Amino acid sequence: MTHSHRAQRWVGHADLDAFYASVEQRDCPEYRDRPVVVGALPGHRGVVAAANYRARDFGIHSAMPIAEAYRRCPDAVYLRPDMAKYSRVSRKIFQILGTITPVIEPVSVDEAYLDLTGLEKLLGPPASIGSEIKHRILEASGLTVSVGIGPNRLIAKLGSEHRKPDGLMVVHPDEVQEFLAPMPVANLRGLGRQTQKIFSRLGIRSVGQLRTVPLQILEQHLGTKAALSFQQQALGIASSEMVPGRGRKSISKETTFEEDVREQEILRDTLHKLAAEVAKRARREQLSGAVVTLKIRFTGFETHTRQHKLPVPTHDERVILREAWALFLNGNLPSKPVRLIGVGISDWQQTETEPMQADLFEQPKKREIDDRLLKTIDRVADRFGKGILQLGCTATKNTHKPR
Ligand SMILES: [Mg+2]
Repeated sequence: MTHSHRAQRWVGHADLDAFYASVEQRDCPEYRDRPVVVGALPGHRGVVAAANYRARDFGIHSAMPIAEAYRRCPDAVYLRPDMAKYSRVSRKIFQILGTITPVIEPVSVDEAYLDLTGLEKLLGPPASIGSEIKHRILEASGLTVSVGIGPNRLIAKLGSEHRKPDGLMVVHPDEVQEFLAPMPVANLRGLGRQTQKIFSRLGIRSVGQLRTVPLQILEQHLGTKAALSFQQQALGIASSEMVPGRGRKSISKETTFEEDVREQEILRDTLHKLAAEVAKRARREQLSGAVVTLKIRFTGFETHTRQHKLPVPTHDERVILREAWALFLNGNLPSKPVRLIGVGISDWQQTETEPMQADLFEQPKKREIDDRLLKTIDRVADRFGKGILQLGCTATKNTHKPR
């Protein structure tokens, strides 16, 4: 064994199984053996926010239009999301994760990366740490979680996906290549439909096959950036750093109208409201964004986004509204009734300087990390609000008919 002055890095990825649906099943025993779909209600607009595994057997999955879910399984239990409840459960779960390690990067309400490096003395080998995470979460919340543990984020994430639901998968550094080889390339990060098509045209189906393709060939088809990313992933190379704020790429709000809207006045008023909410949240998080994004969905699900980069980052709703409205008027958008409108800001300018990541791992300063943890928990809670709107579960009522 070679001597190394640095401990083996271990990253965990914890992901609750069918989170919203599992919470509902936990609280309502008569749902236990039934397909459960949380989201919009059949007969309304909107999508599936979560489906339990029984519902997934019918091909129902999140983001599917609720009408389609209903067509597939009319007998499922259909429930509106209770975001306040899920938020409470989420906080509890993040508190439990905080008893394992203070270095946590939330991905969403029910999903996080954990730095598990150096915990062996305290909790045993990675498999024991994984069992401990599962055990503590089940004890505290009655919910099952899938845990993947590996030398970096990619392997941890793929590990938790691999054994869902209620899974635990530990991939040691010397098992990474073997673990990845048979995996479909579709499991890799950042693989869109277009890339999938290119891969299948090239006859690349597994990660093992991808590994044998020369970088030059990949570059020709995917461009340099994507080619490098997929080659690295195929080799199991990825970052193991946690960045608590990383999950937060943008702050946005959107609204789905019950009936499609043509009146500019209504659209502008709605944008104003949304811009105010976005700005308020950004100020609370001490973030200023340089890019304003307008999102519009027209009748028939045709969706457009328009962006504008500001010379100076902002968290002022007046600026956000002005830019979003200008994008609406001058963005060369079709003149059709609007089903959904949204606005967001991104491209942060740091308002606080974060300590160097290396320091965080070498000499954890307890209070500083606790502060970060609390902040990230708040951020997760914040994301709920965004989730409510994005999932299309909240709709502003209006009685105006499109003309
Ligand atoms: Mg999950």
